[in-house]
Amino acid sequence: MELSVDLLIVGAGPTGLFAAYYAGFRGLSMAVVDSLPEAGGQVTAMYPEKMIYDVGGFPAVRGRDLVKGLVEQAAQWQPTYLLGRKAEVLREGGDGLDVELDGGDVVHAKAVLVTAGIGEFTPRPLPAGDGWLGRGMVHFVPSLDAHAGQDVVVVGGGDSAFDWVLALHPVAESVTLVHRRAKFRAAESIVRQARELGVRLLTDAEVAELREDASGALCEVVVTAKDAEPVVLPAQAVVAALGFTADLGPIENWGLQIDHRAISVDSTMATARPRVYAAGDVAAYPGKVKLIATGFGEAATAVNNIAVELDPQAHLFPGHSSNVE
Ligand SMILES: Cc1cc2nc3c(=O)[nH]c(=O)nc-3n(C[C@H](O)[C@H](O)[C@H](O)COP(=O)(O)OP(=O)(O)OC[C@H]3O[C@@H](n4cnc5c(N)ncnc54)[C@H](O)[C@@H]3O)c2cc1C
Repeated sequence: MELSVDLLIVGAGPTGLFAAYYAGFRGLSMAVVDSLPEAGGQVTAMYPEKMIYDVGGFPAVRGRDLVKGLVEQAAQWQPTYLLGRKAEVLREGGDGLDVELDGGDVVHAKAVLVTAGIGEFTPRPLPAGDGWLGRGMVHFVPSLDAHAGQDVVVVGGGDSAFDWVLALHPVAESVTLVHRRAKFRAAESIVRQARELGVRLLTDAEVAELREDASGALCEVVVTAKDAEPVVLPAQAVVAALGFTADLGPIENWGLQIDHRAISVDSTMATARPRVYAAGDVAAYPGKVKLIATGFGEAATAVNNIAVELDPQAHLFPGHSSNVE
């Protein structure tokens, strides 16, 4: 793959998606890379079904719907998405920068905007699920419809596990939650909701085995519990919601100033390295507040300043979008 763009955005969370819209608004071509297979960052991975109440203009918006709107808003400028790809190496290249992705592909960009949030998410593994990822086991649920009519086993005891249980309950044939401790970490109110819906909650229990049918598809899950006989549950899907670890990983070696897993920026969102900017959760400065709303503002600031850096004749103030036909 050979790709050359004005701006490479590293991270397709809310900040990166809004930056993609904004780059198009400023006449820049852009690509967005994300190691996750879906856009939306933390919102998609951790709380797509939760309502968000503090995004300007939306008294309440479901995470999934906010991401959909951001993708739609950016789509008018046709960003190139490189999803399921990790940005690994940053080096000087000709009139700009080269970013090498996992697998060796290189994207050439005149500027790079790092919107990597809390870093690359790595789901905590379900030992019994080894080899089942993509064959019936998932770590998060991009589309509820895919589980319509299925027997689903959700593994975990935190908020995310219960969010999936509540979201899947109306569409799935059955939902069972398996948690290896007696007590849940999730908020009391969502645990109560699940109990009231009659969801089967197996505690002090572990998923010991996933079984396939003659065609190789997931069909059953074996659950072992303390002082009890193993239970065999029908299952066409397992959601392993055991949480994520997050790590800036390769970005730590990009020659940026990193403090407490965040990149130091100035008031233009520029980092210590020329033509490299950062915005959103990953960007740090005194008084920083990590919110979606903050990321949107920082994305606009970063892209407007990038536009001027790439074309010193350009105005920093972009004009009002409401004046654009
Ligand atoms: C449970 C929960 C509830 C929340 N509720 C709210 C709320 O109500 N209101 C609010 O404002 N905020 C809320 N937040 C915080 C909000 O989600 C974050 O502030 C927001 O997601 C930050 O967006 P971002 O785009 O900067 O980063 P992220 O959403 O973290 O996205 C960064 C993306 O970069 C990708 N990435 C990282 N490194 C690489 C790499 N090397 N190569 C490729 N891709 C990479 C990651 O895979 C990720 O998709 C909540 C967070 C959580 C966990």
